[in-house]
Amino acid sequence: MSGSPPLPSCDPPTEAVAESVASVRERIARAGGGRPVEIVAVTKGFGVEMVLAVAGAGILDVGENYAQEMLAKVPGAPGGVRWHFLGPIQTNKVSRLSRVVHRWHGVDRPVAGDAIARHQPGAGVFVEVNVTGDPSKHGCRPPVTAALVDLLRERGLDVRGLMTIGPQGDRRASRAAFRRLATMADDLGLPELSMGMSEDFETAVEEGATTVRLGRALFGPRPGAGPARR
Ligand SMILES: *Cc1c(COP(=O)(O)O)cnc(C)c1O
Repeated sequence: MSGSPPLPSCDPPTEAVAESVASVRERIARAGGGRPVEIVAVTKGFGVEMVLAVAGAGILDVGENYAQEMLAKVPGAPGGVRWHFLGPIQTNKVSRLSRVVHRWHGVDRPVAGDAIARHQPGAGVFVEVNVTGDPSKHGCRPPVTAALVDLLRERGLDVRGLMTIGPQGDRRASRAAFRRLATMADDLGLPELSMGMSEDFETAVEEGATTVRLGRALFGPRPGAGPARR
C-alpha cells in the first residue's frame, strides 16, 4: 500500500483547494452557529497559483507575512483580491505595501501606525496583542493595548479590531487566549477579532472570531523551501 501518487506538477490545484474551502466553511459554520466569519487565505510559502485557486473557490481575502513575497504575487493575482498584511510591519516597507494592502493585521507599535497613517490615511488596521506574553512573539502587551488603540485612532486609522496568534498545540491555552482577546476588544468597543489559524480556528470561532487566517487547512503543508512560520 503506497498511498496515492503525488499530483503531477501541471495539475491545477483548483479542485483540491475548492474541496478544502468547502470543508473549512462547514467546520466554521458548525463552530459559529452560522455567524458570518471571514476567511483570509494565507498563501505565504506557496506560489501565486494558490491565490488563483482560492479566488476560484470564492475567497478573495488573501494574507501574506512578507512584503517581498506579497508584492511579487500581486501582478499574477486576480484584480479583486483584497490583500491582508499579517507580518510585523517594517516601516521602510510601508510605502510600497500601502498601494496594495487592504488590512494590516500586525500593528503593535506606534511607529508602525505612524507609517501606515502617512502612506495610507484612514487605513483599516488590527492591533496585534501578545495575549500570553510569550517573549518570542510579536504583539503589544495587554496593558498597553488601549493606549495604542487610542493613538492609532488619533492618527485617523480605522481600528477594526484586535488580532492574535494563539498558543499552538494547546487547545485550552488557545481558548483562554482567544477569550481574553474577545473581552479586551469588547471593552475597547472594537467589533472585529482576527484570530484562529489552521490548528485552532474552530476554537477561535467558538470564542467570537470574525476573521480566521488559514494556510495549511486550505493548501496542505507549506513547501519546505518557503519561508517558515512566524
Ligand atoms: C502563517 C500564518 C497564518 C496561517 O497559518 P496556518 O497554520 O498555515 O493556518 C495565520 N496567521 C499568521 C499571522 C501567520 O503567520
